[in-house]
Amino acid sequence: MLPEVFGKVVERDPGQPEFHQAVKEVLESIEGVLEKHPEYRKAKIVERIVEPERVIMFRVPWVDDSGEVRVNRGFRIEMNSAIGPYKGGLRFHPSVNLGILKFLAFEQVFKNALTTIPMGGGKGGSDFDPKGKSDLEVMRFCQSFMSELFRHIGPITDVPAGDIGVGGREIGFLFGQYKKLRNEWSGVLTGKGLTYGGSLIRPEATGYGSVYFGEEMLKTRGKSYQGLTCLVSGSGNVSQYTVQKINQLGGKVVTLSDSNGVIYDEAGINPEKLAFIMDLKNVRRGRISEYRDKYPSAVYTPVNADLDYNPLWNYKADCAFPSATQNEINAKDAQNLVNNGVFLVSEGANMPTVPDGVDIFLQHKILYGPGKAANAGGVATSGLEMAQNATFSTWSRDEVDAKLHNIMISIHRQAKSAAEQYGQPWNYVLGANAAGFVKVADAMMAQGIV
Ligand code: NAP
Repeated sequence: MLPEVFGKVVERDPGQPEFHQAVKEVLESIEGVLEKHPEYRKAKIVERIVEPERVIMFRVPWVDDSGEVRVNRGFRIEMNSAIGPYKGGLRFHPSVNLGILKFLAFEQVFKNALTTIPMGGGKGGSDFDPKGKSDLEVMRFCQSFMSELFRHIGPITDVPAGDIGVGGREIGFLFGQYKKLRNEWSGVLTGKGLTYGGSLIRPEATGYGSVYFGEEMLKTRGKSYQGLTCLVSGSGNVSQYTVQKINQLGGKVVTLSDSNGVIYDEAGINPEKLAFIMDLKNVRRGRISEYRDKYPSAVYTPVNADLDYNPLWNYKADCAFPSATQNEINAKDAQNLVNNGVFLVSEGANMPTVPDGVDIFLQHKILYGPGKAANAGGVATSGLEMAQNATFSTWSRDEVDAKLHNIMISIHRQAKSAAEQYGQPWNYVLGANAAGFVKVADAMMAQGIV
């Protein structure tokens, strides 16, 4: 596991546990790769890949509706540009800090390599919390954030997108400010609205992609979603389109959540109920508990900090799609999932399962698709948005969806074949890390010590 490299990472930045977790997982997965490729060791590819090419940290002052001055912190991690411009989302959430964004940027490097589109890895954001803010406050914050970020990004340099807390509204404000400051219209951000350069299917892409990845895993066991019961966590962008695609493919989704609680609807969250959730979360910006008020047969369980497990992962089901945030499945949750019959986990969120939980999935040889592979459909479709912007063209819904579907099939194939090559055919974690790493490492080898 290259203990000396990992030790140095921890020693250098001791307060970044999520980053250490992400690095450790990759280092463990590439042992076989490094044995086969001593040239990577000699060129210190691993030592270089764990160090961001550039980290930008800045002050974001803005004025709230009562006239008070507020100050947040902004970040952009430009992790690796070996195979293309830096690419990765912006997260606005009070938990955001340098370590969390470094973990996300690091994951992004390997994920983007798997998409087959030339994109490097980056991530950014702020500890700003859009929850409870007015549209004008969000606009003023986004304008202040972009007033610094604009000098570091560009359509062939670094192309941010959305993530937690950054949806269509925020991307619109950020794009408007970038365009004003640069006096240019370009594909500098993805996830844009359809009227100003956005791609059809981009909002759907991460959720659809994670369901397509799950479908490929199911096929390896001769199965489909028809009649399967699924658990989905979160209720934001990724969760909503995960539910939509599972419904389309004949499965039934029985749970959703937010940071306050979990709903369980045994009858299934059908398209009509999903439309209610979309209005609740995207327009009215309300809480998931309101689902039970609208559909009284559903069960609502508020978050209970005294519990050492999440009730969402303790319902009987076949498949699970963690789609909220990092480390939302602990070891007990993973064991509960396995005990309740779940045999497929496809991660819409980034690193939602703690390492001990991942071990439980791998020991039981369930179909476990790590986020790096399973949720790559979002960034892949961002790549398709960049391609449309660069050629001033627009592709139809069916065209983009077909490309997304093919990309997910290809990511599954790459992860599976690398897992087989390194002797653990069931291990998509090893497969995704090894396949992504080799692609980036080869590009770095070709470009010299830069
Ligand atoms: P989103 O639209 O902001 O939704 C996030 C959801 O997760 C909300 O329901 C939120 O509840 C919940 N959540 C966030 N932090 C939480 C916490 N600490 N505890 C419990 N629930 C929490 O964000 P998203 O775009 O769907 O992203 C969800 C996950 O997918 C993230 O891990 C993100 O990195 C990953 N991802 C997203 C994309 C993309 O294209 N959007 C692509 C790849 C991966 P509250 O509203 O109560 O906070």
